[in-house]
Amino acid sequence: MSINTTCPYCGVGCGVIAQVDAANNIVSIAGDPAHPANFGRLCSKGSALGQTLGSEGRLLYPRINGQRASMNAALDHVAAGFQRVVDEHGPDAVALYVSGQLLTEDYYVANKLMKGFIGTANIDTNSRLCMSSAVSGHKRAFGEDLVPVCYEDLELADLIVLVGSNTAWCHPVLYQRIAQAKQQRPGVQIVVIDPRRTMTCEIADLHLPVRGGSDVWLFNGLLAYLHQQGHTAHDFVTDHTEGLDEALQAALASAGDLEGVAAACGIHADRLLEFYRLFASRARVVTAFSMGVNQSTAGTDKVNSIINCHLLTGRIGQPGAGPFSITGQPNAMGGREVGGLATMLAAHMDIEDARHRELVQRFWRSPRMVVKPGLKAVELFDAIHDGKVKAVWIMATNPVVSLPDADKVKAALRRCELVVVSDCFENTDTNEFAHVLLPAAGWGEKDGTVTNSERRISRQRAFQPLSGEARPDWWLICEVARRLGFDNGFNYDNAHEIFLDHAALSKLNSGERAFDIGGLAKLTSAEYDALEPVQWPVPARGHAGTPRLLQSGRFYRRESKARFVPTAPRAPVNALQEEFPWVLNTGRIRDQWHTMTRTGRAPTLASHLPEPYIDMHAQDALLSAVSEGQLARVETQWGALVARVKTSGEMPRGMVFVPIHWNGANASDARVGALVNPVVDPVSGEPEFKHTPARVTPF
Ligand code: SF4
Repeated sequence: MSINTTCPYCGVGCGVIAQVDAANNIVSIAGDPAHPANFGRLCSKGSALGQTLGSEGRLLYPRINGQRASMNAALDHVAAGFQRVVDEHGPDAVALYVSGQLLTEDYYVANKLMKGFIGTANIDTNSRLCMSSAVSGHKRAFGEDLVPVCYEDLELADLIVLVGSNTAWCHPVLYQRIAQAKQQRPGVQIVVIDPRRTMTCEIADLHLPVRGGSDVWLFNGLLAYLHQQGHTAHDFVTDHTEGLDEALQAALASAGDLEGVAAACGIHADRLLEFYRLFASRARVVTAFSMGVNQSTAGTDKVNSIINCHLLTGRIGQPGAGPFSITGQPNAMGGREVGGLATMLAAHMDIEDARHRELVQRFWRSPRMVVKPGLKAVELFDAIHDGKVKAVWIMATNPVVSLPDADKVKAALRRCELVVVSDCFENTDTNEFAHVLLPAAGWGEKDGTVTNSERRISRQRAFQPLSGEARPDWWLICEVARRLGFDNGFNYDNAHEIFLDHAALSKLNSGERAFDIGGLAKLTSAEYDALEPVQWPVPARGHAGTPRLLQSGRFYRRESKARFVPTAPRAPVNALQEEFPWVLNTGRIRDQWHTMTRTGRAPTLASHLPEPYIDMHAQDALLSAVSEGQLARVETQWGALVARVKTSGEMPRGMVFVPIHWNGANASDARVGALVNPVVDPVSGEPEFKHTPARVTPF
């Protein structure tokens, strides 16, 4: 049996073919040559998916307070606990914390339950940690959270600017596509803007090792340069934008002269000028950005400072041109589409808009509609810590490892009256705190859809039976909803029925928003099963999808105009001190995913980098009295961990890098989240994972 499905790791969203030999219990994995995201390519993680299957280490049955329980008893317990807290303390005393690993259908019912039936927006997602600054930046500039470009634009561009993105390791198949495009058209220029000299720099014509957090200075300087050098697309700016004067004023005030900007960014002025000239001279420019931009207390402003440069030059909505947020997770985009963030309503509608709330309420026939945004991830766990949120259901994520100030998350969960965790795996750091554990279906068992970074909706298909008593997340949510008395809103028998609801909802007020997949709202079960990857909008039945948005120059704000957002640069919240002289930067490595609950099971992936490490400049290592291969302690005001020192040559002076993947369950508590400062962007709520003052000492 051969099944076409989608990789469950990064936001590239590669198509996968699973070849199942049921008689011998073997699943072979290959890239899907027909899938437009990867055309048959897979990276090391995708290729090793077959090694992560099987029942070993899986959570196979429910537990209540550590004891095996029937599924009925566990679901009753969850519903009764949520009901009691709502009755005693109101709907804002309960919360869901979900994940970009959920399928769109799971996300849809979770969002519907909280915002339309329980009546709180206290549902946030680990996508808050990854791309919420991009969401806020898109909303401010375009009026809607939309990605205008597609992967093909990277192959059509004459200049690709990669900002805060180790694409080679974090989005490997996209990197392969870029590298191939450069091989075929050697004139294509690639600029990497990143404090670290990562693998991605292998294909760079220019690497700007900017000071961490200085991106707004850099792009404000670019805006001023483009304007002064006569590269403003006057017709486009006049017809399709507003706010240029204010944005220019802010840019000129902060940018100063070229030397001033270069000094603020910690780079040579001649290299900065080289970049500015390149940007000015190439008509087709894609600026792709990722966590180095988003995970910052100035993340939203960084995003808007990039978008401003594309608006000024009209390099948006055209083939090979535009700002491009590359998402981290397989379904971060699908979650945004159903309103999976505490600050959004379904189908890209706004919680703050009474008309939107009424539309959604009527569609859902909901008894108790949310009226205000809910708590964002860090706020949510603070509220649990402070006893304001008394019951939480955590789905498909491991916040005890991944959130900043992660030891406070432990303390919060310890104090919480009811902690429910649904997960595929048995031993995670977060499961330890669960009063109720619910076994969730894993990759290969789940059925539904995901949306990748280029808005492409793809099917994730089941090719294995459910393990033990595991059930799909949507099923678990619907069962709890029914037990809460919401039978009518949650009578779904399968993911297909949920998808139709989601697609029909997107059609409400169609034309007002770009997100419209109404053309998929009448798919038969067979058509849903056979659904080919398609990029939204899909406004009519039979529509082929939309590779590129904003081509008409129509935006989704007042008078259909985009907005230049004035951005004032600001330094990271916590400055370095004598005691903590280095910047702790965190991020991914090539062969592991998130907290390793799945990739940690694949022996071939462990061989790349088998243990956590502290990467630092050789001279900084010397100053810290540590050396390559030695165990050292990296410590911040919030926590500490011990790992081996590396001096890879990638690091700039003054910065140390520790990967995010290792945890308490697979290493001697190498949870770097416990070291990260819990400060967030004031607009998006995204934490500052790239800048925490730290020191390194011998162990
Ligand atoms: Fe999976 Fe991303 Fe690798 Fe593609 S690039 S195979 S989606 S991890």
